Amino acid sequence: MDTLDLRIYGDPVLRKKAARIELFDEKLKEFAAAMIRTMIAERGIGLAAPQVGISKRLIIALGMRDLDDASAPPLVLANPVATDRSSETWSYEEGCLSVPGISAAVIRPNEVSVAYQDLAGEERTISAEGIFARILLHEIDHLDGTLFIDHLSSANKSLAKSKLKRLDQYKHLF
Ligand SMILES: [Zn+2]
Repeated sequence: MDTLDLRIYGDPVLRKKAARIELFDEKLKEFAAAMIRTMIAERGIGLAAPQVGISKRLIIALGMRDLDDASAPPLVLANPVATDRSSETWSYEEGCLSVPGISAAVIRPNEVSVAYQDLAGEERTISAEGIFARILLHEIDHLDGTLFIDHLSSANKSLAKSKLKRLDQYKHLF
């Protein structure tokens, strides 16, 4: 089974605003399945289409009930929009398959409601909390060209900077 190539920090596709999904056809289902295979192969818990070079509003998120629930089923969300965020927040160490070797604590809402379309184009909503809410928000950010490192405090950002610079150079060398 084929997996897709991951785009790494420095690749312009990661900074683009992704386009809405308009066509809910067989091709979209195949693409979503390939994204799930890629996420599992890379041991990710979420993946957004721009991370595999496709600037479309499609994300995969493991529906984790808690931090140990890595066997949770993956959920596919097209055109996801966070409609409601709790005012309570929590901080947790995040990483990203597109920013390898870097992790940092990011503050996000405890709970979120997300409106989206499933692979048949049906409108749905989901309420998520904890790690699941965090994954959804991290992946939705990708669709607007935002990376988790953009949420860091300036102190943490400067810590990450030298590593990011190396990633960027690496990307241009290979
Ligand atoms: Zn990411």
